[in-house]
Amino acid sequence: MRVVCPFETLDPRTEAALRRYAPQTEFVPVGGDAEAYYWLLLRLWADGDGFVLVEHDIEIGPDTLPALSACPQAWCGFVYSCGQLGYQAAFGCTWFGKELLLRFPEVVRESGEIDDGLPRRYWQRADSRIGQLLHRRGIRLHHHYPPVRHWNRAKAGRDGMHWSTTRYLGPHLEGTTMQYRFIGESAEYFPDLGLNCEPGAAVELDKDPKHPRLERVKDAPKAKAESKESD
Ligand SMILES: [Zn+2]
Repeated sequence: MRVVCPFETLDPRTEAALRRYAPQTEFVPVGGDAEAYYWLLLRLWADGDGFVLVEHDIEIGPDTLPALSACPQAWCGFVYSCGQLGYQAAFGCTWFGKELLLRFPEVVRESGEIDDGLPRRYWQRADSRIGQLLHRRGIRLHHHYPPVRHWNRAKAGRDGMHWSTTRYLGPHLEGTTMQYRFIGESAEYFPDLGLNCEPGAAVELDKDPKHPRLERVKDAPKAKAESKESD
């Protein structure tokens, strides 16, 4: 399994876990160039082999990569704490299957042309731009649990092993969300939503799932559009 760790500052816990569980990991420096992450993804996509991205501050466990490897889905991600946004899966620990790369070879290049107010090919938008394009093609990120640890001081969870909020990657890209509460008594996976829910999970979705165990809470405010630089 190809594993790639792009980094500017590599957390020692990230590195230690990768050296232990995935000694084949390619550590790729992307610091100092706001487009380097984009160009890396473009290259990985063009190589056409499935790959796992493990970002510089994510600590995988012994079961993380085997779970991704065993999963039949084409696009999978472990959730991790994202501060006030709760537990999400973006590109921190994410599997891009070979069939995804071959079926949508244009996606990364197209993402580099998106004008959303931040510079094209800007590293911090790689996940949301590529996610948006895949979402439009009907591809949903398959969420994996339990969360992997995210060693980001601003976004650390309570202890990295519990979650009260799950949020599907798509909605904040689409701009509108509705909030639901999972009222099942044991964990449940919703394949059509690409969503795992633990009891009590709060979920934000972009359309009504019409499922009896996903109870509507309230309309979430529209996601704030990031203001463009005005001239
Ligand atoms: Zn999966």
